[in-house]
Amino acid sequence: MQKVAIFGSTGSVGRQALAVVDEHPQEFSVAVLAAGASVDALVEQARRYRPQHVVVGDTAALGALQDALAGSGILLHSGAQGLAECAALPDVDCVVAAITGIRGLPVSVSAVQAGKRLALANKESMVAAGPLLRAAAAKSGSEIIPVDSEHAAIFQCLMAGSREEVRRIILTASGGPFRTRRADTFASITVAEALRHPTWSMGPKISIDSATMMNKALEIVEARHLFDMEADKIAVVVHPQSVVHSMVEFQDGAVIAQMSAPDMRLPLQYAMSWPRRLQSSTPGFHVSIFQSLTFEEPDVQRFPSLLLGLDAARRGGTAGAVLNAANEVAVERFVRGEINFLSVFEHVGRVLARHQCVAADSVQTVLDADCWAREEMLRC
Ligand code: MG
Repeated sequence: MQKVAIFGSTGSVGRQALAVVDEHPQEFSVAVLAAGASVDALVEQARRYRPQHVVVGDTAALGALQDALAGSGILLHSGAQGLAECAALPDVDCVVAAITGIRGLPVSVSAVQAGKRLALANKESMVAAGPLLRAAAAKSGSEIIPVDSEHAAIFQCLMAGSREEVRRIILTASGGPFRTRRADTFASITVAEALRHPTWSMGPKISIDSATMMNKALEIVEARHLFDMEADKIAVVVHPQSVVHSMVEFQDGAVIAQMSAPDMRLPLQYAMSWPRRLQSSTPGFHVSIFQSLTFEEPDVQRFPSLLLGLDAARRGGTAGAVLNAANEVAVERFVRGEINFLSVFEHVGRVLARHQCVAADSVQTVLDADCWAREEMLRC
């Protein structure tokens, strides 16, 4: 029985991780549930799953949590320290890191340092602090298994050959809601339009990132660090159906792809059960799902975000942290109506160009680069 800690349990990925637990009560039990501030949803989950520990990130919400769960015997924690500590508890085997944004970094670091299996859905951790996480994992014996569907696919495809035999990694991208939209109308894109994703059902931050293709830019950096692959061996192809989750091309020309209906429960379950494959209700091969798979070159003129991702991946070090932080601020400002869609690319590009990259060798260095980028965004 794997004892699972779910960080970001009330969000979209966290709820799907609980759905995996529901499907496999013999395989997984919930040891920790953690959320940012959604106390009502967290309390409901705690009553249902009876974890040993519940954490709320927002310290001000601890009182409400204590009132609601009084007498339950569940240990309650709060704040950044509570989150980090609960990722390292002896009771925990596998940490599902599904907090959105750089706020998820301390949980990932803590889990890896404690030697836990890290089912990594918080891509920002790997983008901003990949070298640090990999070094910590090598030291502790922690396994970092990607949950991001593209990286979960690559993780599986890489088993078809040795690292030296890989010619390139090909990340697939749905292209988002504006794949075919004319460039001269980009400036007038509304928040509501950007929130509508064609194939995946996701939270607001990642929906906007998909619309700008900044999600793919971050995923280039994520792949660079996660698989220790040179930036120039990472390519992106647009594949609107989101059935081929990514591919690895080997030096003999063989292209290995991982395919399945778009459903986050599959990569989540695989990360939690690896190296085993468990039963699941994911449909597998159906002509109706697989009959039309199309691919197109990405348009970097309309989506310069991809070039920013490649640039950050080539530069390495703190460039990933800066790309991520600048983008988080840009998304917030776009959602508040303060900047238009095109300004997301312009502002992030400007801040990334100004950044003096250093090695991302400590959490503090990464957080400093993150802070610098956020302050720099105010000057855009
Ligand atoms: Mg993805």
